[in-house]
Amino acid sequence: MATLRAFFCAELDGGLRGELDRITTTLRQAPVKASWVKRENLHVTLKFLGEVADSLVPDLEEAARRALRESEIDSRIEWTLDLLGVFPSLERPRVVWVGSSEEPEALARLAARLEQALESLGFEPERRSGVAHITLGRVKERAPSPNVSELTRALKEHPEFRYEARVDGLTLMKSELTPQGSIYTPVFRLLFSSNSNLQG
Ligand code: NAP
Repeated sequence: MATLRAFFCAELDGGLRGELDRITTTLRQAPVKASWVKRENLHVTLKFLGEVADSLVPDLEEAARRALRESEIDSRIEWTLDLLGVFPSLERPRVVWVGSSEEPEALARLAARLEQALESLGFEPERRSGVAHITLGRVKERAPSPNVSELTRALKEHPEFRYEARVDGLTLMKSELTPQGSIYTPVFRLLFSSNSNLQG
């Protein structure tokens, strides 16, 4: 059975990815072992699916269309990014991300509808709390360590920023893990602006 590793995400425009990549460039000066997300791969994950059968793609598209319809989003979501965050804590950073102090309600609604629509296809709901974020990097070294402390310092000292993200659709992304890093390829895209025409 042919399969693909897949996830639903919101893609980001090239200008914004460039801005975010500048934050990564600053942080990666800390000599901590980490895998930093390449500029072209920066995205907002809405739902990670893992390995799915190729034959499931039409059902995934139908579920995504339903989620979009039910969330009643028919225009671009404006999202102000002003937060540099870490999971689980600044002293023990595992995931470094960018997000916002005020998450747009529409984005949370879309993620919730998508979660529901996918449950009917047998996908387990996410147990972790779903704060929308853009992962910049994943730290491989564990605290306490001087390198991790340097990253913590860099995070604390990072200048404030304010970027405007314009999310205009939902993408099912195929992800291939290679020794050179992940390669993402869109499987399908659903634009919010065509939501009023979505049938089914
Ligand atoms: P990927 O693993 O195909 O993941 C694509 C997106 O799905 C990620 O951005 C991540 O969202 C989310 N994701 C991945 N695994 C997940 C999981 N187990 N549970 C919930 N969400 C998950 O491609 P990638 O992000 O380029 O990853 C490259 C490598 O990092 C892979 O070896 C992968 O296994 C590892 N990784 C592990 C986790 C994890 O939670 N254990 C998460 C990401 C990546 P976020 O941006 O929100 O993290």
